[in-house]
Amino acid sequence: MSKIIASAAIRGSNKIALQAEQFVEKARTEKSEDVKIGFPDTAYFLPMAYALMGLEIKTLGDLKPVLAHIRELLSQEPAGKLWFPYLGSTLDAGIATLLSEEIITVLRYLYNEEPQPGCNGFFTDTILRTLGIQLVDGRMPGFAAILGAAPDNKTAVSIVRDLQKRSIMVFAGSSTNGKSIIDQLAEEKVEMGWDTYIVPYGRDTISAIYPLNFAIRAAMTFGGLKAGQARKCLEYCKNRVFAFGLTLGEVDDFKYATGAGAINMGFPIIADTDIPQILPTGICTYEHVVHEFDYEKLVPRCIEVRGVKVTVTDIDIPVSYSAAFEGERVRREDMHVEFGGKNSSAFEYVRMREMDEIEDGKIEVIGPDIDTITPGAPMNLGIVAEVAGRGMQTDFESLIERQMHHFLNYAMGVLHMSQRDLLWIRLNKDAFASGFRLKHFGSIIHARIHDVYGKLVDKVKVTILTDDEKIKEALVAARKSYNERDARIADMTDESVDEFYSCSLCQSFAPNHICVVSPERLGLCGAVNWLDGKAGYKIDPTGGNQPVIRGRVIDPVKGEWEGINGFVYQNSNRTVERMSLYSLMDAPMTSCGCFECILALVPEANGFMIVNREFNGMTPCGMNFSTLAGSVGGGNQIPGFLGVGRLYVLSHKFVSADGGLKRLVWMPKTLKDFYKDRFAARAKEVGVPDLLDMIADDTVASTAEELVDFLTKAGHPALEMEPLM
Ligand code: SF4
Ligand code: ZN
Repeated sequence: MSKIIASAAIRGSNKIALQAEQFVEKARTEKSEDVKIGFPDTAYFLPMAYALMGLEIKTLGDLKPVLAHIRELLSQEPAGKLWFPYLGSTLDAGIATLLSEEIITVLRYLYNEEPQPGCNGFFTDTILRTLGIQLVDGRMPGFAAILGAAPDNKTAVSIVRDLQKRSIMVFAGSSTNGKSIIDQLAEEKVEMGWDTYIVPYGRDTISAIYPLNFAIRAAMTFGGLKAGQARKCLEYCKNRVFAFGLTLGEVDDFKYATGAGAINMGFPIIADTDIPQILPTGICTYEHVVHEFDYEKLVPRCIEVRGVKVTVTDIDIPVSYSAAFEGERVRREDMHVEFGGKNSSAFEYVRMREMDEIEDGKIEVIGPDIDTITPGAPMNLGIVAEVAGRGMQTDFESLIERQMHHFLNYAMGVLHMSQRDLLWIRLNKDAFASGFRLKHFGSIIHARIHDVYGKLVDKVKVTILTDDEKIKEALVAARKSYNERDARIADMTDESVDEFYSCSLCQSFAPNHICVVSPERLGLCGAVNWLDGKAGYKIDPTGGNQPVIRGRVIDPVKGEWEGINGFVYQNSNRTVERMSLYSLMDAPMTSCGCFECILALVPEANGFMIVNREFNGMTPCGMNFSTLAGSVGGGNQIPGFLGVGRLYVLSHKFVSADGGLKRLVWMPKTLKDFYKDRFAARAKEVGVPDLLDMIADDTVASTAEELVDFLTKAGHPALEMEPLM
């Protein structure tokens, strides 16, 4: 390692360690050894100390061994014990920095000094799990942590837009000469937040620990690694988390020290200043430290150095197009036009055609365009995409139609919500001013359907309707088809098909996890049903969705088959030997990390509770969602605990081996509201029409005792059922 960097990093690390020690000392005198410390909403305590040292730190006193370890790391002779002799002591100093920064930030939380104004602060487990989905499905190829400030506001915006365009999550913070990129972006009115992929973490370098202890948690959440498996956790970050650091402006000792920490995790540093480069490849996939002075080339250089895989779709529209714009909102005062919602109606419909019925690439607008209205006005809209192809089947219509949400939302300035005839679209004034018109919806849909479904579809024709008469006509056909599709899915049973489908998409994060998706049980992420699995297999016969033949029945009630067991064993790296599809208590499916809900046994109530990801309160099993998720996820199989998609609850096969729907004793009120209308038919079928009212929620019970009280008063059937344990 360059001598200059090494000494700066070690110097910085010593300063940060000293700060940590002094802060602990201050807290000790002002509070007490027993004072509780911790970050909000995490089951990983102080994530770095937990991952690297296996320590569950809950109080100030618990920090002692961490402080001792920091000193030990810093006192080593050069050429320390880590893997690369020439980086040895610097790398150890990097680890010492990460541990020290974590101590400082957690104590700031104790003193209410975090999050800093306008910043996110610590990244919660809830965020980690939500982003996990985007990481596994490739919507987000990587992370960038920016430290410092650009030479001017315009450059700051252009760097961030360059990253956004490539769907790379930007963590912005730290500062240079008292100026932070956060304020540069705020001054330019750049919308910041998780939805826009730009998250301000904090205005000093020490708070750069947040993206780093976020990354290390991914190793435990998705990689199934245990606390204390330091080297494995660091390697996981290197191999699976495509992150890099980008320093803007002068690199001081603190930044060098933090950079040395990041290099331990395989994250290279790219600088816009003349710092010595470290080019030989070793711990990072490519170079460790590089500089790039040309701002135009800065982001491409970062991507190249870290080996981030980005697919940029070139579509002929006048606005930027990428996943980073998917979550962007369009406020009422910013919109040029609104389709659907309160004041107008809109629908979208994908329809299969025969090959000779349509012309590929034809985009037709029937009715007035959006330059005929007063800005901000409502307009009726119909989008009809007709597709044809040798691999196409009517079963795939809805799958493609559902993707319209992503397709249109990726366009900067377009907001797309809901589906079918509930469609709601807004377009902002900037997009309109750039020249965006109705035909561009067609260009996007045409390009993206070819792009994603090229194996099924050969021709795509898009018709955009704003003429009221034509809309009415087309809507009749669309509604007829919506109803037919619902009937088709609702009628399907597991017994009515020859094969189920696997999904291994999440193996990039949970290597031992495999979902088996049947007509009556969708994937635990809630985003993949049997038809999707089937379509996925058609699209890519060697891909992540494979047919699974059940074979000989081992137990028809539990849903255990020889063929499924064999498939799961082979595809779980030979770790899961049995899987029963309809039981929570015996050999349930594994859980990766992106489950919509968690199903858990509550022994006192002789039943199961279900909690959704969005709920952050306490549940009757004594754990909140994060803590539960921490023990369920990572591709583990744990009887009594299971990640599920929320629609699974309404299936006839919902834990049918354990007593089915009648076992459900608790769920958050918000989830109850979601099920409300859909629940009735199933409740009647199981012979308890008002079952939903007998199920407790967080407004009446958050402990097992309160739960049992409520169930007894309500006369819930679970109490009378066969004992679960
Ligand atoms: Fe991941 Fe399972 Fe969803 Fe596939 S179905 S994306 S493996 S959770
Ligand atoms: Zn998953």
